[in-house]
Amino acid sequence: MAPSTLVALWERQAVATPDALAVVAGADRATYAEVDRRAAALAAELRTRGVGAESLVGVCLGRSVEMVVALLGILKSGAAYLPLDPGYPAERLRHMTVDSGTKLWVCDADRRAQALASGAADVLLVEDLPAEPSAPPAHVVRPHHLAYVIYTSGSTGLPKGVAVGHAALASFLRSVAERPGLTADDRVLALTPLSFDISILELFLPLTRGATVVMAPPVGNTDPELLAATLAEAEVSVVQATPTTWRLLLASGWTDGLGRVLLSGGEPLDPQLARDLLATGGTLWNLYGPTETTVWAAAARVDAVADRVGVGRALSNTRLHVVDESGREARPGVVGELWIGGDGVARGYLDRPALTADRFVPDPFGGAPGRLYRTGDLARWSTDGTLEMLGRTDHQVKVRGVRIELGEIESTLQSYPAGADCVVAVRRARAGEDQLAAYLIPEHPDRPAPGPAELRALLADRLPPYTLPQSCTVIDEIPLTPNGKVDRPALPDPRPASDPAPAARQSLTARQLLVAEVWRECLGVEDDFGPQDDFFDVGGTSLALTTIAGRLGERLGRRVSPVLVFRNPTVAGLAKALELDGSGGRELLDDVGKKPPNALGNTSTSADSSSGSY
Ligand code: AMP
Repeated sequence: MAPSTLVALWERQAVATPDALAVVAGADRATYAEVDRRAAALAAELRTRGVGAESLVGVCLGRSVEMVVALLGILKSGAAYLPLDPGYPAERLRHMTVDSGTKLWVCDADRRAQALASGAADVLLVEDLPAEPSAPPAHVVRPHHLAYVIYTSGSTGLPKGVAVGHAALASFLRSVAERPGLTADDRVLALTPLSFDISILELFLPLTRGATVVMAPPVGNTDPELLAATLAEAEVSVVQATPTTWRLLLASGWTDGLGRVLLSGGEPLDPQLARDLLATGGTLWNLYGPTETTVWAAAARVDAVADRVGVGRALSNTRLHVVDESGREARPGVVGELWIGGDGVARGYLDRPALTADRFVPDPFGGAPGRLYRTGDLARWSTDGTLEMLGRTDHQVKVRGVRIELGEIESTLQSYPAGADCVVAVRRARAGEDQLAAYLIPEHPDRPAPGPAELRALLADRLPPYTLPQSCTVIDEIPLTPNGKVDRPALPDPRPASDPAPAARQSLTARQLLVAEVWRECLGVEDDFGPQDDFFDVGGTSLALTTIAGRLGERLGRRVSPVLVFRNPTVAGLAKALELDGSGGRELLDDVGKKPPNALGNTSTSADSSSGSY
């Protein structure tokens, strides 16, 4: 019988292929035997500290061999892991630590103080880990034990932890090993931050099949050129990314898909993107699934593209039901809500019994093991038995691949003193990427709306970078539908909060004027920009970086790197950088990752922030 915990799957593989390369992270590499020995040492140490089945251990580490050792060590000890993204605001990390009852963090020395400030009673530094286990680890992990908790956006203002057990995780790994499949010769890119569950496919699928995990460079998902270089140099054969990241990669000129498996998921795969990906020569899959049913629930191999790209069929051990308004299975062609059952269904939301009972319901269709997760996704069966996704029943959105409840941002915004009422919507910027737009009715009509930078500074303590609105528009009233709900489509186009002073405008140099003009063209706005205007404050997105670099390159008659635009977000800064950089910025790639600004323009203390295109 196949092992039904990740630990058993891993240990079987480590015994079978001890000398195979398990992880490559830059110049660091480790075999299966080395990773297993170090993970066993960590597990032994954790057990001496009282960690065991059903306890949670926080992991706050950047992409590295140590990160894999930490995850496997925690799981071997019998405990479950809680990903703590180094790029998250302190308040968010504290909330997750306290809310989940996590007592111990595994992190590096730089984050020790943060761990203690976040409520961890104990900290295990990766620098101090023993290389050899003090005693062989006891086999303590059972299929019903908790494997991980991942927090996702919560509509009422605070994120909620999705609790997933080992049986669900092992079942998922077995299913994706069948379809899309993986061989021991594969080299799989690990690109996604741990706080998103799709990272599980990137890390644990290869490690339970004798294949190799190739860690993406620290800012890989923001910098498409670095990503493309890694794919080529590390001979990566399987890449999983959100459509947002795929678009970014293609926009940078990458066409090198031949011989690679390209997995797209987390957001709808639009037909044009699918065609562009197929044109690279890669084998393309569209994957669908919510965190609550363990990573992916359905998969479609995409060969030919019509006017819609479906998500195909259920993975094995997974049941998909499209449920109509009367609670019955909808016929093909009829739209309903997708409910998912099978081995992947999570335990529920950590310590949220009411919410769990609302979303995880008894299976009215009689399937085992008897519970279905109501996804909130609208779907319909095609006549060929494959599934099409058609949007949401609620205000959960995906922006740059990340799941966000608009209500979470709204309730945080409501605490802003100038805002008596507010609403947040997703708007498609002319640069082609979705943006979060805040609308505010100020309590004092004479008080100006906060500019995007001010707004973000206020929210940044409590919300992760990717949930910070990119514009803030003052409105007189919130438009309502006839039945009294917020009519988001009727909201006006977002307006930049402030115009630069006329004096600032007049003082632009010729090169600054060129930058401002290209911004206007690419962002599709009419505004005059001043020298200190920041690309990310005026609605710039990671995708627009590439367009702007391309347009500047055309105007200057030489190549301009998106990294140059990324690293110099103000009009004056970019103009200066272009003057200094006759080559267009290529050499800047060399030090990318030392301390990058994230995609929202903040300087992150982490080289591995989840901000950017996730
Ligand atoms: P998450 O829990 O972050 O994985 O987000 C899950 C949600 O993302 C789903 O409920 C869908 O709304 C959306 N989603 C994920 N993959 C796809 C896909 N391939 N096509 C359409 N929507 C998707």
